[in-house]
Amino acid sequence: MAGAELVLRSTRVVTPGGTRPAAVAVSDGRIAAVLPYDARVPSGAVVEDLGEDVLLPGLVDTHVHVNDPGRSEWEGFGTATRAAAAGGITTLVDMPLNSLPPTTTVPHLRAKQEVARPAARVDVGFWGGALPTNVADLRPLHEAGVLGFKCFLSPSGVEEFPPLDRGELGAAAAEIAAFGGLLIVHAEDPGHLAAAPPCDGPAYAGFLASRPPAAENDAVAAVVETAARLGTRMHILHLSSAGALPVIAAAKARGVPVTVETCPHFLTLTAEEVPDGATEFKCCPPIREAANQDALWAALAEGTIDCVVSDHSPCTTDLKVPDFGRAWGGIASLQLGLPAVWTEARCRGHTLDDVARWMATAPAALAGLRHKGAIEAGRDADFAVLAPDETFTVDPAALHHRNPVTAYAGRTLHGVVRSTWLRGRRIATHGEPVGTPSGRLVERGA
Ligand SMILES: [Zn+2]
Repeated sequence: MAGAELVLRSTRVVTPGGTRPAAVAVSDGRIAAVLPYDARVPSGAVVEDLGEDVLLPGLVDTHVHVNDPGRSEWEGFGTATRAAAAGGITTLVDMPLNSLPPTTTVPHLRAKQEVARPAARVDVGFWGGALPTNVADLRPLHEAGVLGFKCFLSPSGVEEFPPLDRGELGAAAAEIAAFGGLLIVHAEDPGHLAAAPPCDGPAYAGFLASRPPAAENDAVAAVVETAARLGTRMHILHLSSAGALPVIAAAKARGVPVTVETCPHFLTLTAEEVPDGATEFKCCPPIREAANQDALWAALAEGTIDCVVSDHSPCTTDLKVPDFGRAWGGIASLQLGLPAVWTEARCRGHTLDDVARWMATAPAALAGLRHKGAIEAGRDADFAVLAPDETFTVDPAALHHRNPVTAYAGRTLHGVVRSTWLRGRRIATHGEPVGTPSGRLVERGA
């Protein structure tokens, strides 16, 4: 073992080839080699013996609303990346909306990068935004390093980020295909939403009825049709409706370039258990019934769904009024994604290899981050150290994101993140960030 400054040793290292005892040698912030557990350590290398704790690749969360600058009272790069580090996430990708400005031009991207750079405790990438009016900005944003482009097919919730109609979707997709980019889509159909009974009041059933599965199913079909027709690489964000799965599975089987993510809340929370007035559970599309959740797990198991990412979308507590019509939609969960998903995954017979694939490897591949997402030679030395059998009870006040609201409050979860490492440097230990911010801004291909 030559030229390593750090060696992390565990009886359970999660690698692309499976979980096994290993010693991971780190040099210059990259993984130099994954060696046998008892490999001889070079003189001068620091050895970190993790015992039975599991060494996972640092998670890559490609769906985070940081809201900074402009709505930084909702969330900011300092608080979001503290929460990420504490939760085992080493790379997050910021969504282009809810900040002011939205990430829809190169100068807007630069404004966001300036705010993120000094505050980032984990690596941060950026999605650009595709609006009806900015087709000419897409290629410059791509060349400036954004990882892809987000669009909505229905109202986004903020007026500075309007949705695309079907014609505009095609125009954006054609432009993005021309430079080999990626289009990621909030897929709910505005016609179905407008035709559904409007929601007001505290009843969760009313909210659920206002965002029917058909709105997602039809929008997903439109995305698949666009990807198939134009050859654009397209990705379906936060899939909730299992009714859309057959169309996606069929498209993948015939080689349409489409990928899909779902979120911890769709995999671990059910409509049946949401108390009336509990708008910390409000998100769009909504958390649906238990049978729907079972189908999402089956789709993960068979590979129809690729990624599990947070869609962390917080706001100030005053916007979470106990009325599902008026409350801001969004679930705050950045720090809890790994234990939330692991808690349910283990009950359903899945392993940490599966969790690492869904929450690190696949999101890194989606975003084109070649050096992230797996423990193998040549990748960044980004790790999460997990005690998978230990439990804890979620106390919102102990979390690091800005406003102490989360749908997971009071839940007991399996999996305690012992420490998090970014490019060979410990950035969090026992749920607390350590050291000065050392995150970098990452571009496509990083
Ligand atoms: Zn989102």
